[in-house]
Amino acid sequence: MEKNSLITVISEECLKHENPYEPSSRLIPIYESRNRFEYKEAKEYEEQILNLVHSKKYIQGIKDMRIDSSSDTPINLHTYNSALWAARGAVTAAELLDEYKHSFALIRPPGHHASFSGSVIYQIPWGFCYFNNIAIATKYLIKNKKADRIAILDMDFHYGEGTQSIFKDNDNVRCFSIHGRTHFPPVKAFSAGNLKSFTIPIESTIYIKTLKKVLEEILEFKPDRIGISIGLDTHKRDMFAGSIGEGLETKDYYNIFNLIDKLDIGCYWILEGGYNAQVIKEVFLNILSE
Ligand SMILES: [Zn+2]
Repeated sequence: MEKNSLITVISEECLKHENPYEPSSRLIPIYESRNRFEYKEAKEYEEQILNLVHSKKYIQGIKDMRIDSSSDTPINLHTYNSALWAARGAVTAAELLDEYKHSFALIRPPGHHASFSGSVIYQIPWGFCYFNNIAIATKYLIKNKKADRIAILDMDFHYGEGTQSIFKDNDNVRCFSIHGRTHFPPVKAFSAGNLKSFTIPIESTIYIKTLKKVLEEILEFKPDRIGISIGLDTHKRDMFAGSIGEGLETKDYYNIFNLIDKLDIGCYWILEGGYNAQVIKEVFLNILSE
């Protein structure tokens, strides 16, 4: 089949969960621009997709609102539902690679800090994350024999420790995390076995150089698919990279997209962080609305 190029996945259900630190308003401008790119609604996969990655106790604790969580990662009436729909959006995007070359799940809450039972230290949700969307999508593809080898490239400003802990020693998956110098998460990024981490100043030249090196390693692995945790908190105008005087510009993401596009491997891009709503709109429209 001739593959179309780009598809985006959205879900209004993702907007219901409330977190003042990771507000639904971050997605409103890009959702309001949806007529400028091709999109589909997230599919209603069964709730069991969460069990591909997380413990029953942890999932039930969030559903019943009976689990503690860190103060910046609150659990309220809509949390379980929005987090479930975020995972559904990620799986939808991953499956759409049967027809498209790149799929973008513009969903929230994010997921890359969530491990088997939440935080890798405290076993509760932290870092604005509840369910690990990219890990669920990745396990779904492997379980359903849609891919055998998957590379995960985490490009959020923060280290994707949740994702790495889930796939540690998994021969089907190789994880790469390129991230900035910051205090969260309070676990040290490391490289061992199938996991590789790059802690760098977030600056255009250094970033692209590091990315090129990572893409070479990804090609050596010969993946069928690439899952990308894309965080726009690496942008100059985002509060995270911006507050330490670092960051990428909108055109850098376009260059990053083109470098990855050249690999000619199907990529599912899952939104992680990024807290400037205008930046999210600007960066994705720049890539999606050509
Ligand atoms: Zn982040």
